[in-house]
Amino acid sequence: MVNKEKIEEAVRLLLEGIGEDCSREGLKETPGRVARMYEELFAGMDASADEHLCRTFTAQNNEMILEKDITFYSTCEHHLMPFYGKVHIAYVPDGKVVGISKLARTVEVYARRLQIQEKMTAQIADAIMEALNPKGVMVMVQAEHMCMTMRGIKKPGSQTVTVVSRGVFEKDENLKNTFLKLVK
Ligand code: ZN
Repeated sequence: MVNKEKIEEAVRLLLEGIGEDCSREGLKETPGRVARMYEELFAGMDASADEHLCRTFTAQNNEMILEKDITFYSTCEHHLMPFYGKVHIAYVPDGKVVGISKLARTVEVYARRLQIQEKMTAQIADAIMEALNPKGVMVMVQAEHMCMTMRGIKKPGSQTVTVVSRGVFEKDENLKNTFLKLVK
């Protein structure tokens, strides 16, 4: 659980630090608002993907299942700025599947934390490997990082792409290429 008083205190200091007057009308409620917002943005810290992935069904066949374009919003741990985009998840079941919405829930669990994109990609893949014991998993994350597009090199629209493969996706080039073709 986030400590809202501490966040409020920190936001007040931050505002003072940039030379603002915390008592002016527009900023009076800001520390409280940010604290409530952080509670939501970092709710994944108290959540576990297993709560969602534990409800499995018996698979009728073991063909690849792909859920693409899962929208996510996360926060970069280096700059406390948003990064956001799409997650594509494919897995080849080995007798067990999970409801499609549970994959999106799993993304939420890891996105609503301080993150780095590479780590989030691997965490999603590993959570699915662990819960479903599939033949393989492949996860791709395409994201825009505000810490890159709002400052520094300022390349709006530039995307960072990370890919993690586990199991059959590590060896089977055909399967990997099918995934890449489908998410294009
Ligand atoms: Zn950053």
